[in-house]
Amino acid sequence: MKLIDGKKIAEEIKSNLAKEMAAIIDAGENPPHLSAILVGNDPASETYVASKEKACKSIGFTSSVYRLPEDITQEKLIEVIDFLNNDDEVNGFIVQLPLPKHIDTDYVLQKINPEKDVDGFHPVNIGRMVLGLPAYLPATPAGIMMLLEKMNIKTEGKHCVVVGRSNIVGTPVSLLMSRKSNPGNSTVTLCHSKTENLEEICKQADILIVAIGIPGFIKENMVKKGAVVIDVGIHRIEDESEKGYHLMGDVDYDRVASKCSYITPVPGGVGPMTIIGLLLNTLKSYRREIYT
Ligand code: NDP
Repeated sequence: MKLIDGKKIAEEIKSNLAKEMAAIIDAGENPPHLSAILVGNDPASETYVASKEKACKSIGFTSSVYRLPEDITQEKLIEVIDFLNNDDEVNGFIVQLPLPKHIDTDYVLQKINPEKDVDGFHPVNIGRMVLGLPAYLPATPAGIMMLLEKMNIKTEGKHCVVVGRSNIVGTPVSLLMSRKSNPGNSTVTLCHSKTENLEEICKQADILIVAIGIPGFIKENMVKKGAVVIDVGIHRIEDESEKGYHLMGDVDYDRVASKCSYITPVPGGVGPMTIIGLLLNTLKSYRREIYT
């Protein structure tokens, strides 16, 4: 079994990006700028936004955070989005999810200019991805594809089973895996909560990508010997340790790992690559690579 060390791969990419940014700054140019809109005080969202700011700083991007109150109206939030859409200093921005319940998330995300939609959630970017046109790919699926590429894992002709069909992970990664590209060219089965015989289907997977949000859901009886397992899930499990918790994924790692040819750990697998996806999208916007 080989561990897919997402943390190490992410650090290598960040180190290369940092060198590139140093050259840009030395040449007297402004580096890329990423903004985030954070509504309310959800602790997990605060942590995610802080880690995005930290990642920007570590490679030489500039960043800014627009903190808005929990009870902000949808109209006011859209005004801030419009402001960032029109700010030439901002190459890309994200609206940190989840938003409070009184806000229509799908509607709000459509107000982001697709050219600055570095999370890749706008229907225009999703449509371009489906058609195989240049697009900002959603960060987590893009991170998974980078892991497969960096580990030289053969995907062509393989049966890839994706468990979970969310718009941000399962559905886009299933599309990317079936695309005529490398990584890609897999035969994909997309499973969800209404799938019958899930165990049988998972057992057929050469590559099993799991994003369902249930800790330790995938057990050893669901995994074929020699499979590649990508665990997207991330859960805080309370324990007696000094920290008071440990992290675990959607896969029961301790029981599954020995059956796999490759597996991502949690933490340190897919998680660190998600932020890389976001940084690379921001750089693509800066270089006008998607919308020329
Ligand atoms: P969602 O809750 O949006 O989607 C979960 C999906 O799993 C749904 O499609 C659901 O089916 C399916 N599902 C739920 N229960 C079952 C079941 N018993 N059998 C089969 N399918 C099931 O989750 P996300 O995609 O947003 O996130 C999934 C996990 O990944 C979470 O733990 C999240 O924290 C983590 N995550 C990690 C990231 C990272 O950077 N590492 C980034 C994003 C998410 P249905 O559609 O029928 O309801």
